[in-house]
Amino acid sequence: MRDMPIAISHNYSLREHNTFGLEAKARQFIDYNSVEELVEILSILRDSGEPILHIGGGSNLLFTRDFEGTILHSCIKFIEEVSHDDQEVVVRVGSGVKWDEFCAEMARRNYYGSENLSYIPGEVGASAIQNIGAYGVEVESIIQQVETIEVLSGEPRVFDKSECEYGYRDSIFKNRLQGKYIVTAVVYRLSTVPVVHLDYGPLQQLRSHEGVPTAQEVRDAVIAIRQSKLPEPDELGSAGSFFKNPVVPVEVFRQIAASYTDVPHYVISEDEIKIPAAWLIDQCGWKGKRHGGAAVYEKQPLILVNKDHATPADIMELATLIEQSVLEKFNIQLSPEVNYI
Ligand SMILES: Cc1cc2nc3c(=O)[nH]c(=O)nc-3n(C[C@H](O)[C@H](O)[C@H](O)COP(=O)(O)OP(=O)(O)OC[C@H]3O[C@@H](n4cnc5c(N)ncnc54)[C@H](O)[C@@H]3O)c2cc1C
Repeated sequence: MRDMPIAISHNYSLREHNTFGLEAKARQFIDYNSVEELVEILSILRDSGEPILHIGGGSNLLFTRDFEGTILHSCIKFIEEVSHDDQEVVVRVGSGVKWDEFCAEMARRNYYGSENLSYIPGEVGASAIQNIGAYGVEVESIIQQVETIEVLSGEPRVFDKSECEYGYRDSIFKNRLQGKYIVTAVVYRLSTVPVVHLDYGPLQQLRSHEGVPTAQEVRDAVIAIRQSKLPEPDELGSAGSFFKNPVVPVEVFRQIAASYTDVPHYVISEDEIKIPAAWLIDQCGWKGKRHGGAAVYEKQPLILVNKDHATPADIMELATLIEQSVLEKFNIQLSPEVNYI
């Protein structure tokens, strides 16, 4: 049994728990330190019928209002090697570990697989919900299992990667099972031999490198690129990419390409093309534009920022205006990557 009572904070400010830096309050907020504590908390909350939201680092959340319920946050922190051979290593990680601390540790041990995802804000638990991705790699490529607790029953369930229905920034936990399971640990499988992904433009320079670059060298390059392009949450509030890159029928792409010969795109299949949302937004003239305290980031129009004491309404209205203008100009409906709460 635990020695300490569970600490519950009431009428709790969430400003430090969302990278937009928006003010909102939770009726209750609970940090827990173990699976046992989580199960106990859930059994208490179940009886009260309290709405529950689990958050990580709040780097993909937009609090649109106060949360009239209990917010849970994992402080389960461990990184343990389950197995290790001359090809790969299996590493089990607590959901409350900061994602980039995990990436830093893997690069330090010279394990390959997470280095392209370095410096993404947030925590390990959310990585498996969001299927985070950057520079040609998605986290599903290294996930083996996701350990969870079912909210309703408090029972453990381990999802194999094949059960997680991963897609572009998507998983079963964002759809059919949304809010039903809490991630307590993630099991990753990384390579102990060099396997690097250097297709993304600025990373290609590492190809001229003598021999295969180390995981640490790729990580350093990724961090340098990110620091030059993306706002630091401590300095300028944002939630990263606000919209997903739309995947459109090839016919829609052809119509756009007839007027814009330089439209960037990635072929997804014979029938579908992905167009960068940043390009669409830029073509509508949004870069650097302000709406109340919110703005479109000057260096990357896919990012909406809290420029000056933005309210949730400022950000939501700006997002709607952008969606409307992209729809009018290109007949493409953008959808948010950010979770509205
Ligand atoms: C500057 C910046 C750059 C970014 N760059 C990238 C990028 O390159 N690629 C990318 O993919 N994302 C990027 N993001 C978005 C964000 O970092 C990721 O989505 C991240 O995984 C969110 O993690 P989090 O811990 O902050 O989760 P939160 O934002 O707190 O939560 C995200 C979702 O996960 C759920 N959740 C969180 N923890 C758990 C848990 N333990 N159990 C169950 N559900 C849980 C929440 O309910 C919510 O639905 C960026 C964000 C910022 C601010």
